[in-house]
Amino acid sequence: MKYSTLFGKTTKSAPHDAQSTNARLLTQAGFINQLMAGVYTYLPLGLRVLKKIQDIVRGEMNALGAQEIYMPALHPKDIYDTTGRWDKIDVLFKLEGHGEKEYALGSTHEEVVTPLVQQYIRSYKDLPMAVYQIQDKFRNEPRAKSGLLRGREFSMKDLYSFHTSEEDFLQFYERAKQAYLNVFRRCGLDAMIVEAGGGVFSKFSHEFQVATENGEDLVYRCACGFAQNREIAEVKAGDPCPSCQKGIIEEIKTIEVGNIFPLKTRFTDAFGFKVAGPNNEMMEVVMGCYGIGPSRVMGSIVEVHHDERGMIWPKQTAPFAVQLISLSSKDATLRENIEETCASLEKDLEASGVEVLWDDRDAGAGEKFADADLIGIPLRIVVSEKTLAEESVEWKERSETQSRFVKLADIIEEINEVTFLDRKTKTAHA
Ligand code: ATP
Ligand code: MG
Repeated sequence: MKYSTLFGKTTKSAPHDAQSTNARLLTQAGFINQLMAGVYTYLPLGLRVLKKIQDIVRGEMNALGAQEIYMPALHPKDIYDTTGRWDKIDVLFKLEGHGEKEYALGSTHEEVVTPLVQQYIRSYKDLPMAVYQIQDKFRNEPRAKSGLLRGREFSMKDLYSFHTSEEDFLQFYERAKQAYLNVFRRCGLDAMIVEAGGGVFSKFSHEFQVATENGEDLVYRCACGFAQNREIAEVKAGDPCPSCQKGIIEEIKTIEVGNIFPLKTRFTDAFGFKVAGPNNEMMEVVMGCYGIGPSRVMGSIVEVHHDERGMIWPKQTAPFAVQLISLSSKDATLRENIEETCASLEKDLEASGVEVLWDDRDAGAGEKFADADLIGIPLRIVVSEKTLAEESVEWKERSETQSRFVKLADIIEEINEVTFLDRKTKTAHA
């Protein structure tokens, strides 16, 4: 992909309310564009990242045995009347249609998924089963000033599981925890599992929290793995750990990137959803729900992985694996040579499964390097008069300060050896 034709360029300006690092960097680098507080357009670079995160989530959900569906975002009021949540969900966007009919924009989908599954699942033999979707959610958040961390429209993956017993549910719940940890690890985030309140549903839930200075949440944790969020914490900073008895509790700022809840029969009861058991008796259906916000994950990655010059994408979420930069020359023949070298490099790299963004603009080295640092693609490869004189390129990893020369003839081999790049397809010997 040539940068000169890419829609959405780097810009010096940032949204006036962009107090947060992720909003500022993502906007300046041309990944997102704010329509209003908490609502963003994803430009091509940003959309590539969002889709990569969603694909990581999708892969882990499929590995759990869950099936992907896609539910409507526009909901009728009556399903909320059934559960009594029409006036309980404080962030629900409500609207009126023709004939004074009332609707809501989905902030979560228990009211849709429960009666949906009820139509197809009749017997205990059909359980357990789990469905998920990746869809935009709408929440009338009072404060939406943290870029992608708190949107009024935002991407969520919501998974719902259905079981005939609490034991069966708990087994799935533990597997879901592992799947969540896999998601965050692959996204370059070190998430911890934190005990949290279960809201109206049950005594507990588990949050996945990432430590960062700009986090809105507070977590009390011990090195032993004990961690509670601020709503339920029975400890404070400096206390001895109630779990291991040896450690000392510390207080850290965090971002909640995921949350999983046991729902017991809260929703299945409301809709009268039961299944036929082995002796045709009616059995209760136990439910769980599991949320991850891919857009909040994207914002969190930026909060965690950046420096004063810009973003530093972890390999699996980077919009491209390589940023190729051609530096122009005053000499026409050399200029052509540089162009041709870049064109063939781009072709060879793409052929070996490496996605390339080629900065082919007629701009100076300073501007191109600054933009590359801002955009934060893991590997920068520069072709210039100087490098061509040595039949080489300049190779610099975004996370390193040093660069080095690599022979043109060796690039594909070198690329196959680096482990920090994401691949569309595995090469034979990779
Ligand atoms: P918070 O406490 O931060 O408001 P929540 O607990 O209400 O979030 P959940 O209902 O647990 O959120 O939603 C599941 C996941 O969806 C969250 O863990 C988070 O990753 C994401 N999410 C929730 N609200 C937002 C939002 N306003 N903007 C972006 N992502 C969100
Ligand atoms: Mg939550």
